[in-house]
Amino acid sequence: MTGVPKKRVSQRHQGERRSQIRLKLPSLVTCPNCHRLRLQHHVCPSCGYYRGRKVIETAAERRRSQR
Ligand SMILES: [Zn+2]
Repeated sequence: MTGVPKKRVSQRHQGERRSQIRLKLPSLVTCPNCHRLRLQHHVCPSCGYYRGRKVIETAAERRRSQR
């Protein structure tokens, strides 16, 4: 089965549908470790902490250790 549209979607219909895309801003929360804004359910990009544990090496630390 190939996905072939039965009817052409009018420019208005297409615009109305696409008006709902990316309406909401990303849900930002404050990092409990460094108190900067980060995306919810994401590792903090500035300190590398997630759920009270250090999970990644941050860019600043990588520069310091010189790999
Ligand atoms: Zn942080």
